[in-house]
Amino acid sequence: ETGTNRGGLYHLGRTLGRGHFAVVKLARHINTGQLVAVKMIDKTKLDVMATSHLLQEVRCMRLVQHPNVVRLYEVIDTPTTLYLVMELAEGGDLYDYILRQEGGVAEGTAKRHFAQIVRAVSYCHRLHVVHRDLKPENVVFFPQQGAVKLTDFGFSNLFQPGTMLATSCGSLAYSAPEILLGEEYDAPAVDIWSLGVILYMLVCGVPPFQETNDSETLVMILDCRYSVPEHVSDDCRDLISRMLQKDPSRRASLDEIEAHLWLQGLDDALLSPEAPPHWLSGALSPSSPLSIIRNLTVHSVSPAYKLWTEYEKICFTWRIIGLDS
Ligand code: ADP
Ligand code: MG
Repeated sequence: ETGTNRGGLYHLGRTLGRGHFAVVKLARHINTGQLVAVKMIDKTKLDVMATSHLLQEVRCMRLVQHPNVVRLYEVIDTPTTLYLVMELAEGGDLYDYILRQEGGVAEGTAKRHFAQIVRAVSYCHRLHVVHRDLKPENVVFFPQQGAVKLTDFGFSNLFQPGTMLATSCGSLAYSAPEILLGEEYDAPAVDIWSLGVILYMLVCGVPPFQETNDSETLVMILDCRYSVPEHVSDDCRDLISRMLQKDPSRRASLDEIEAHLWLQGLDDALLSPEAPPHWLSGALSPSSPLSIIRNLTVHSVSPAYKLWTEYEKICFTWRIIGLDS
């Protein structure tokens, strides 16, 4: 699989993580020694439409530039595999981190992580991009920058139609009630629900909804029934309850979350996005991402979307509406 010129520029190393269609490996740029993460997506498992959709999505993804979003440096396309060359998160993902902390992360620390995640989601929503697969596995650590960043951007939505059946067990615990009910939904509100799940997991160490069998878990989510351990502060508990609201229209907005009492008192300065390594000729400069994204989004509205599932259409309708406002 190294039969291409550009792919041959990197030495692939150990596996950093795995998803459903992708493997993420550590890689070293041969000429400069720079370490990166390379997400390898097996295109042979996708149909033609999903593949073209994937390429369009990648174009947008490259432009989402924020200190708390993993930077996509370069995309290498081969007939069988798509390689996404990304900023390397040396600290692993938030899921493993939570597992290592018995009974949850101290609130002061949780607050610092969570504030960064909220900032990233808020930035994306302003660009009319919804993540829709926010979960601890998709948040990664950059210990040297003291940062956590969102990853797995846009792919969850792309892969969801094909993976629903295969993964419904694995992702059930994170799903918002309206998704489980199969209702049409307001995409940004789904991200807010997920933020509630993430904050709960940070401070409690376990998911809010996880019973011994799926049907019980389903009932708990649909009833929005969960319990918060004693050690969690009242402010934190309140913030969780503002996000884990069954009715999407009653969920807190990102502005409300950022203004919540529990998230106050942080003095960390805003980080600026890491500049891409100089040797990456394909990398984008951080100039005016909004206008570029708009242009690209217009181009990405191809007839193929009409054939896409309802689930996908909702997301794109939302995005396209966003263009005119
Ligand atoms: P999938 O779309 O298949 O879920 P992800 O992009 O979420 O793939 O990557 C799978 C896993 O790889 C993540 O859960 C994380 O542990 C790891 N990973 C992803 N991106 C990076 C990165 N930039 N640096 C280090 N590890 C990463
Ligand atoms: Mg993932």
